[in-house]
Amino acid sequence: MARDLCHMHAAKDLGPFLSEKRSPLMYPDVQLHIAGVWRDADGGRRIPVLNPATEEQIGTVAHASRADLDAALDATAKGFQTWSRMSAYDRSKIMRKAAALWRERADQVCRLMTMEQGKPLAEAKGEILAAADIIEWFAEEAQRAYGRVIPARAPGIYQLVVKEPVGPVAAFTPWNFPVNQVVRKLSAALAAGCSIIVKAPEETPASPAELIRAFVDAGVPAGVIGLVYGVPSEISEYLIPHPTIRKVTFTGSTPVGKKLAALAGEHMKRVTMELGGHAPVIVFDDADVDLAARQIAGAKFRNAGQVCVSPTRFLVQEKVYEQFVDKFVATAKTVKVGNGLEEGTTMGPLANERRIPAMETLLNDARQKGAEIRTGGSRIGNKGYFFEPTVVTGVTREMRMMNEEPFGPMAMILPFTDFDEVVTEANRLPFGLAAYAYTRSAKTANAVAAQVQTGMMTINHLGLALPEVPFGGVKDSGYGSEGGSEAIEAYLNPKFVTQAGL
Ligand code: NAD
Repeated sequence: MARDLCHMHAAKDLGPFLSEKRSPLMYPDVQLHIAGVWRDADGGRRIPVLNPATEEQIGTVAHASRADLDAALDATAKGFQTWSRMSAYDRSKIMRKAAALWRERADQVCRLMTMEQGKPLAEAKGEILAAADIIEWFAEEAQRAYGRVIPARAPGIYQLVVKEPVGPVAAFTPWNFPVNQVVRKLSAALAAGCSIIVKAPEETPASPAELIRAFVDAGVPAGVIGLVYGVPSEISEYLIPHPTIRKVTFTGSTPVGKKLAALAGEHMKRVTMELGGHAPVIVFDDADVDLAARQIAGAKFRNAGQVCVSPTRFLVQEKVYEQFVDKFVATAKTVKVGNGLEEGTTMGPLANERRIPAMETLLNDARQKGAEIRTGGSRIGNKGYFFEPTVVTGVTREMRMMNEEPFGPMAMILPFTDFDEVVTEANRLPFGLAAYAYTRSAKTANAVAAQVQTGMMTINHLGLALPEVPFGGVKDSGYGSEGGSEAIEAYLNPKFVTQAGL
């Protein structure tokens, strides 16, 4: 039952937006957070927020004006002075308190996330609890941002490397994981001693706003975290070149990432880019095929396939191809598509209207070129952005779906004969974010891990995206890491100090 998963507590537990005579079931009119104050946009502009399961407007989000951005920039400069001077020990304490508050609020916030993004309540709750783990892990890491001492060439000289926070950060995050995409950037930046302005997603604004509320309520000083919404390109074009901003971090599509990285490069700003993927799944004929099909089908339809590391090109060795396809299709047919708030739903709608034509365009192209749709292939109904879990076989490399990130509940399965052929296919695309493999041979596992060009590889299980492990891509999938100790390095500058005794 949806309410079992996400029981609503008393309104006062939910912070200001629900405390003022509003039902706990109502979606808020989301505000900006600038200079320690929750407030509407200068000029009062608002953007409507829709529920993708019903297409109804459920609330609005404040649209920041240029004056709001200037205020956020001014505040972040001051916030940086305060936060970077606070000890790592004290920063860590505040972050751990934010994690505790956030965990307490998980049951309320997951409902907001399902209403704005569509994913089932259980997935929303999982994302929220994972975010608490991320905050805690980075809170600990804050205290381990060690420098080093380098042996000198002469006596009496000390050569030190000191790690300093890079400065105020501008972060741009998308709608597919409204909280997770923010929390990785926010936690690493705060751990390093940076202030940050988050441009969170306008389509899913409430759950990231609640994340930031947990940090504010935990005692993060005014100006350290800013939250704005508006027209993404207008905000990025203003913030990235601005002299106050020293670091840019973006999660989203490769074309947008390339534009923002170019702009940041023009202004010599440090950048982390977490972009698109087209993950290969390689199933060798010595694998546990039933386990592989069941496990990877579950991963495919999570968040309706709107996941940058979503398994996408399923490359299955000939001998076990039919067995894998049968099992995968059977598992796809068990997916229960529906409103994420309803009991039993295992896949919600696509998150926005644009995803429907995106799916249909790829499928029409594949149909024309002779692909076989083994299950799914169509929109469900005409209210809400529901789409069938879709499995396509008979695909060729000429089809658009084999080259473009579907970012939806779509799996393409094709057979291969030998190791070299499958590695060539896995590496054929410009993407290199995640890759999956199944084999019982240690030799094959080692070889595939070594030869596939990817930022992340998971073999015989699903093991990506924990806070303590690197998360990021190569090639057109971007650069930099959003997990593990590498993630905090992205927010630190090494300063070399050499000192001789007098
Ligand atoms: P899009 O490419 O327009 O936007 C992707 C994200 O980037 C959105 O959050 C958007 O607000 C933001 N964005 C767009 N232009 C921007 C700009 N100039 N400055 C700052 N931010 C900007 O497309 P979309 O329809 O929202 O999503 C479609 C594609 O984006 C998907 O097919 C997928 O490839 C990619 N995407 C990737 C991720 C990811 O986790 N890597 C998440 C969401 C979307």
